[in-house]
Amino acid sequence: MNIGLLGGGQLGLMMIEAAHKLKHKVIVLDKDKNCCASKKCDSFISGDYKNRKTLELLANQSDTFTVETENIPVETLNFLSNFGPVRPSGNCVSICQDRIKEKAFISSIGIPVVPHYKIKSVSDIKKLPNKLPPSILKTAKSGYDGKGQFNIKTKQNLIDVFDELGSLPCVLEKRINLTKELSIILVRDSSGNVANYPIAENQHKDGILDTSTMPGDVAREIKDQVYLYALTIIQRMNYCGVLCIEFFLSEDQLFVNELAPRPHNSGHQTIEASLCSQFEQQVRISTSMPLGSTVLRCPARTKNLMGDLWFKDLDNKKIVEPNWNLYKKSGVTIHLYGKTIPRIGRKMGHLTELFLK
Ligand code: ADP
Ligand code: MG
Repeated sequence: MNIGLLGGGQLGLMMIEAAHKLKHKVIVLDKDKNCCASKKCDSFISGDYKNRKTLELLANQSDTFTVETENIPVETLNFLSNFGPVRPSGNCVSICQDRIKEKAFISSIGIPVVPHYKIKSVSDIKKLPNKLPPSILKTAKSGYDGKGQFNIKTKQNLIDVFDELGSLPCVLEKRINLTKELSIILVRDSSGNVANYPIAENQHKDGILDTSTMPGDVAREIKDQVYLYALTIIQRMNYCGVLCIEFFLSEDQLFVNELAPRPHNSGHQTIEASLCSQFEQQVRISTSMPLGSTVLRCPARTKNLMGDLWFKDLDNKKIVEPNWNLYKKSGVTIHLYGKTIPRIGRKMGHLTELFLK
């Protein structure tokens, strides 16, 4: 089949590799002609997600549609649904792309989220208590890798940052003590069959995922709570596709942090460690194949390779290719996404290390 993919980043690239193994073709739509997925896809359309002619071009070549980023306009996904299945649906993606909607949905089904206020105007700020706990202001849309997040200490500080952001809708979240960060990837097909990978334990540096270990070291009661919350969320959304749910554990309190309606960085281990990777699941669900097995053959850890590695000497900004020989150990796979320009804080690739049981 021909899969129409919205977005051409590294997640798209790895989905294309999985699609080719199953002999499917992928047509990618992205603004950036040089995006990671453009080099490996079967057909590439460069254009705007909102342009009807561009979408018709994609629709004419595709049997089914999916996304590799949550930042796709809901109107685009609803339009494409006239031409074939869109998995996940526009409605599901629209919940995951907006922190305000996302938190409202999760709370509405009785699942805890971090204490927060929604901020849409200065008058929302004025209504807040005068003394704020240490908090983080997050733009409701388009944030990733800690971008669009600001530490807030006082109300005046909040007013200033909100103003600098051009009064974009935001959430103000209480900064909590993180005992652990966890995530779980679930897959659900169009008949409602659900499966999940083991819970991953994640370490972040400067708001960006650094390492992810699967399975994580998690107490039985917390595991059960993660499974229950995750299953409730995916079913209540009537979700079809690959869904990642990020959790914060603070002492013994579990909160849902955010949802990603696509394969996730904390599931890259599944390429080498699972019988069927998260990317293959996305392809299988898109093409109405049965779900693959989520069984892990062995424990595994993903470590991100950040652009920082290319800058040996941060002061003179000279770009030096890392010495890959350092990473070529038995059981370690090096993935590079083909990004030509390394930047500090940019994900350039990742390593997966497999461990004996
Ligand atoms: P992104 O979309 O960038 O992944 P997140 O909301 O997941 O945004 O935040 C990125 C990281 O920042 C989290 O994984 C966590 O390490 C830290 N963080 C975010 N919100 C909080 C919070 N309320 N309290 C403590 N740490 C937080
Ligand atoms: Mg996150």
